[in-house]
Amino acid sequence: MAESMRGSRLGYTSYEIDPGVNAPRKITTFICPNEHVFELPFSIDADEIPDTWLCDCGESALRKGAGKVTKKVLKPAKSHYDMLVERRSKKDLESLLKERVESIRKPVSRSKKAS
Ligand SMILES: [Zn+2]
Repeated sequence: MAESMRGSRLGYTSYEIDPGVNAPRKITTFICPNEHVFELPFSIDADEIPDTWLCDCGESALRKGAGKVTKKVLKPAKSHYDMLVERRSKKDLESLLKERVESIRKPVSRSKKAS
């Protein structure tokens, strides 16, 4: 034990003081589905405050004001193809594809005639 205490100044430096305790904090409110409300201090410099925090009752509490944001983030993004398939039937798509392929293959009228 004496070995591990070498270099420390017991009685002079208190190890109970958190060096960051005086840093500016913002209080964030969390609300769990069981209507438990609790507040947690986060550093004002924190890059990202979590949207959820585990409540003492075991439920996942949502940060106050984060509900809509979380819902948007979790929504899977639709691709252009997904949206196209939603709007058109397969028959429509086949017809459009045929039309498009024909327009691409059609010789360009303004080009010079081969000489
Ligand atoms: Zn709770």
